Amino acid sequence: MAVSLVKTFAEISTPDSPESTPVLMKRAVVLGASMAGLLAARVLSDHAEQVLLIERDDSDSGSDPRPGVPQGTQVHALLSAGAVQLERWFPGFSAEAIAAGAVVPPSDGSRGAFFMNGELRVAPPTEQKDETPVLVSTRPFLEALVRRRTLEVGNITLVTGRADGLIFDGERVAGATYVPTGATESVTERGDLVVDATGRSSKLGDWLEDNGWVRPPMQRMPIKLNYATAMFAYDEKISDLMSSVSQTGPDAVTGRVARIAGFNLVEGDRWIMLISGYGDDRPSRDREDYTTRCRRDFPKVYGDIAEQATMVGDVITYHQADSRRRDFHELTRFPAGLVAAGDAVASFNPVYGQGMTSAMLHASCLSKYLRAQPSLDRPAMAYFELVRVVVDVAWQISTLADLDLPHVDGPYPRGFRFVKWFSGVLFRASMTDGVINARLARVTTMMDHPNSLATLGTVLRALKFGRRKAVAA
Ligand SMILES: Cc1cc2nc3c(=O)[nH]c(=O)nc-3n(C[C@H](O)[C@H](O)[C@H](O)COP(=O)(O)OP(=O)(O)OC[C@H]3O[C@@H](n4cnc5c(N)ncnc54)[C@H](O)[C@@H]3O)c2cc1C
Repeated sequence: MAVSLVKTFAEISTPDSPESTPVLMKRAVVLGASMAGLLAARVLSDHAEQVLLIERDDSDSGSDPRPGVPQGTQVHALLSAGAVQLERWFPGFSAEAIAAGAVVPPSDGSRGAFFMNGELRVAPPTEQKDETPVLVSTRPFLEALVRRRTLEVGNITLVTGRADGLIFDGERVAGATYVPTGATESVTERGDLVVDATGRSSKLGDWLEDNGWVRPPMQRMPIKLNYATAMFAYDEKISDLMSSVSQTGPDAVTGRVARIAGFNLVEGDRWIMLISGYGDDRPSRDREDYTTRCRRDFPKVYGDIAEQATMVGDVITYHQADSRRRDFHELTRFPAGLVAAGDAVASFNPVYGQGMTSAMLHASCLSKYLRAQPSLDRPAMAYFELVRVVVDVAWQISTLADLDLPHVDGPYPRGFRFVKWFSGVLFRASMTDGVINARLARVTTMMDHPNSLATLGTVLRALKFGRRKAVAA
């Protein structure tokens, strides 16, 4: 089982272009044109004669934040596996992004700093470095590029309007309805496959129930996360760091609380910097509060940037109540002609940066499913089984850490105590041993399945280095 999950995950996260892409349908309809919807449309363009994207926001928003993706103003890190998928579906994407202003930090780690409980983590040795592109930008910038490349594909069309339901034909979904922007009446768009990519507030469960089907069971973990993000003009006199993460875990003995902060150098020569807290620990929009927290709660460079660099715009806050997953794979009855992708399936604590990459890997699941030439008159359970592999990976990584939060009391996964112990050993070893750091990074960036760490060599090495003390920041 363990090996097959590693293998299946490797097949999903492959960088290779598909060898054959059979056309299986006349028309696919995708609801929501954000990361999940755009990537799903790109995959479907290989298997459908026509793909229709329905998005409620104006598609011409360029690279400005837009209302349909309110989280887009916050720091958005693209994990390596996501960058690989973008290059896979849009060859030349990285080069284009860099030409347009995306930042690529040097691969020797010299301009990055990761702090754990105030200690600085060692960089991976050069020979352990991935060749995977690291692209750093704001979310709207990245999404605008993905949208442009998607809409350049000849058989993809985008219309603007609010999707408000599905049309059913016996045991299958035969299309969707939407209210075009500026209109008052719904119109029907028929399709052989409908993809729900409307994000974490998806109404798919309601639409299913209204039509006599069962909604997918939902698991929630109440994280109560509070974000505050601000932009600063880059100033190398203050720091030449291009990226940093600072993480503290809760400690009942010292009274230390869980907090994550981070900053990235992004297009336009700006640092985008986030600070966060959980529960009642809630950064406000007040600049002084932001600066005080940067100085008080995080390593010195955070305070330096907040105090000395010029803030561009305002502090913007965001609250996320929970991590959630909809387990479609558990349903025993589901209509044919329907799938879901991205946050509409699962959304996690954003501090781990998994959301966009997960959405991209769901698109890869869709490709793998369609390349197997399934009957579209049957429920797409094989697709949801693949998506489950991706969701389990992200869920395991994010919820394992979040179960330490004092206000979180489950759900606990099977074997929690052992997995928690082993991940603690690995994490401590990664602070002083570059090899373990590199192996762990391949998992946290979703390049490899977590089970890939369960080898004798990795366990022994982690046990050896897990006892050393890291450098205080
Ligand atoms: C504070 C915060 C920080 C984050 N940081 C990161 C990060 O660092 N890295 C990362 O990878 N992820 C991050 N994420 C997660 C990431 O934003 C999401 O996982 C990702 O956007 C999911 O993409 P999606 O396409 O599934 O959904 P969304 O991006 O939410 O898009 C849903 C789309 O559907 C459209 N839509 C909704 N309803 C309808 C309707 N009825 N009709 C038509 N269109 C509709 C919306 O307008 C929108 O375009 C963060 C999230 C938050 C909240």
